[in-house]
Amino acid sequence: MEKKAKKILDILEQEFPGVRPALVFSTPLELLIATMLSAQTTDRHVNTVTEKLFKKYKTADDYDRASLAEIEKSINSVNFYRNKARSIKGCCKKLVEEFGGEVPQTIDELTLLPGVGRKTANIVLGNAFGKNALAVDTHVKRVAKRLGLTESEDPDEVEKDLCKIIPEDRWTKTTHLFIVHGRKTCKAKNPLCEVCPVNDYCDYFKTVYLKKKDNSRLISQRNL
Ligand code: SF4
Repeated sequence: MEKKAKKILDILEQEFPGVRPALVFSTPLELLIATMLSAQTTDRHVNTVTEKLFKKYKTADDYDRASLAEIEKSINSVNFYRNKARSIKGCCKKLVEEFGGEVPQTIDELTLLPGVGRKTANIVLGNAFGKNALAVDTHVKRVAKRLGLTESEDPDEVEKDLCKIIPEDRWTKTTHLFIVHGRKTCKAKNPLCEVCPVNDYCDYFKTVYLKKKDNSRLISQRNL
């Protein structure tokens, strides 16, 4: 399984050289807030919202001092903005009260913050702090499952399965590669398996896609 994962990552790295996070940020706090906003919202939209937001609020203390209504107003074009505003405010309050206003650098501390799960924590660790961290979002989970690198539906289990077979120094990159591959090729509906650069290594391609193709060929021959 390690060899298969390596081959897949080598190919995806060639396919997407220089892949990096799409969220724009310049500090760990900015990445934390942007990632919290990005659930069910496109990165592009988050970037348009944070462009103004980050000018207004620069520190955890700024968010902590702002009223919930003010934060809601600043982010009201993103999905679930009320819940997200509450999480941001709660998170920043805890940062101020327990971490001296700084974003902590361990998964255990990050996941103590309101609204911060393992995915968000790993994105911050991997991209703002340069640590090895594999974040599992919906794309990473789907791609890993189809490729046969995990059997689990649970993101935490998927993370564990991937971390077992992928060398630590490739964890952060794996997240970016699987996300971009999931967006461009291994789409949720109608994956572009025929042109996929890793289809030779993909369980879904062999067990689902090719079978479906064979069946439709047989049906069309019968109908001739
Ligand atoms: S072959 Fe299809 S299912 Fe497999 S990784 Fe490529 S696009 Fe996804």
